[in-house]
Amino acid sequence: MIEATVRVYGPLNDFLPPHRRQASWTRTVDGHPSVKDLIESLGVPHPEIDLVLANGASVTFDYVIQNGDRIAVFPRFAIFDIGTLTRVRPRPLEKIRFVADVHLGKLARHLRLAGLDTAYRDDADDAALAETADREKRILLTRDQGLLKRRTVAHGYFIRETHPHRQLVEVLRRFSPLDLQPFSRCLRCNDVLREVPKSAIDAALLPRTRQHYDRFEMCSGCGRVYWKGSHWTRLKHALAAAREEADRGAI
Ligand SMILES: [Zn+2]
Repeated sequence: MIEATVRVYGPLNDFLPPHRRQASWTRTVDGHPSVKDLIESLGVPHPEIDLVLANGASVTFDYVIQNGDRIAVFPRFAIFDIGTLTRVRPRPLEKIRFVADVHLGKLARHLRLAGLDTAYRDDADDAALAETADREKRILLTRDQGLLKRRTVAHGYFIRETHPHRQLVEVLRRFSPLDLQPFSRCLRCNDVLREVPKSAIDAALLPRTRQHYDRFEMCSGCGRVYWKGSHWTRLKHALAAAREEADRGAI
């Protein structure tokens, strides 16, 4: 049995039981676990972590815990300019793209509305989600801490909020700055929209739509047609409100 003193910082405290938060405590462990195993046994998934210090020195997740170690664990964005210091941060993604778990269907729609490439299937199991994240270099968004602990998940984020609008604000804030291109993606299938001449879809339009609208876009994946009706105006306002809220709270 060996002992290590552990302290986690900032939003990583969300994963700890209330009496463990914002404090150092001594943990007794069997054998010599890796620092990754030690931290994840506390409930903190590795993709949420940006820096691990053992006795003041930056270590990798493979670091083997020694008796008497002092372990400090920092989240993303808690500290700045640590690019040369951290030994646990995965290679940054060239493009921010997401895959959302089965419980985040509404959030996925909101993200697509904002123009963010977001894979989502309501029947995707944990293995499929982890594989999509890994293969397509997507950030896995989930409310399942166990899913984030999978070894293959390099980029992931645990959604704290439960209401879809609050979740959207949370993601916009967490991954700021994001290149948003509202109304550029299909809400149903995530593919990109292309402008389509009215004449090409005229026969499929309801009389009132044909009468009031002249500009249309079509999903290049599923063929769904979009136009800027009252629904569009409502969504536009909801998105603008979320962006404003996210900017207000940005770190
Ligand atoms: Zn579509």
